[in-house]
Amino acid sequence: LKYYFRYVARLPEETVSASLVFGAAMHRAIEHHFRQLLSGAPAPSFADLFDVYQTRWHEPTGGEVRYAATESRQSLNAAAERLLKAFQTSRVAQPGGTILGVEEDLCGQIEPGAPMLRGIVDLIVETPDQLVLTDWKTSRARWSEYQVEDAAEQLLLYAELARDFAPRKPVHIELVILTKTKVAAIDRHPLPVDDRRLARTRRLVGRVWRAIQAEHFYPAPSPLTCGGCPFREPCRQWPD
Ligand code: SF4
Repeated sequence: LKYYFRYVARLPEETVSASLVFGAAMHRAIEHHFRQLLSGAPAPSFADLFDVYQTRWHEPTGGEVRYAATESRQSLNAAAERLLKAFQTSRVAQPGGTILGVEEDLCGQIEPGAPMLRGIVDLIVETPDQLVLTDWKTSRARWSEYQVEDAAEQLLLYAELARDFAPRKPVHIELVILTKTKVAAIDRHPLPVDDRRLARTRRLVGRVWRAIQAEHFYPAPSPLTCGGCPFREPCRQWPD
């Protein structure tokens, strides 16, 4: 139903979760770091990264920013400072290999009959023996192995879209979770590229596409997704 409100009915979004803006701002700062490395420049300073982070907060968000009960702009800024400093000294900030792409926009046919799928890969690095695709996420708490497992499908599809970058090399995928706890944590989660699971994910894409075409939209309430959903009111009213 959220998909329907956003992409079919195109309802205006009255609120935006502060966590989403924070995630986008952190993403922008890390992207800046890797773009500098890609261009052959030295890694940017903390002040540069924090500037990029702050700039994202000044851009229009499309709705009123809604903070969780325990959050404020100041507390998020403090978390960003801790995370960016931890990131700069972590091994993930200096990938071993050649950076081939940062926020690389890929597109391809994943499943016959479904539209082309577009994926934006945060970081693509080539090492002597593999192609490494990394996706960055920010989170309030450290991810469990089940959360990591559930997020694997997105990266499996990216792996499929990115094969042409190094056709003779195996693709390695990994998630890096930046956790904005009091002690910043940067956790790297390598994921297996499993052909059986990829085939299942492709079929899932086909099924989701057929459900969209059949207008098979319904609420799927969950404490994880409804809290930050900008369509809570239209959802309550649905199907009026
Ligand atoms: S409030 Fe929950 S169930 Fe309703 S559209 Fe949003 S995410 Fe879906």
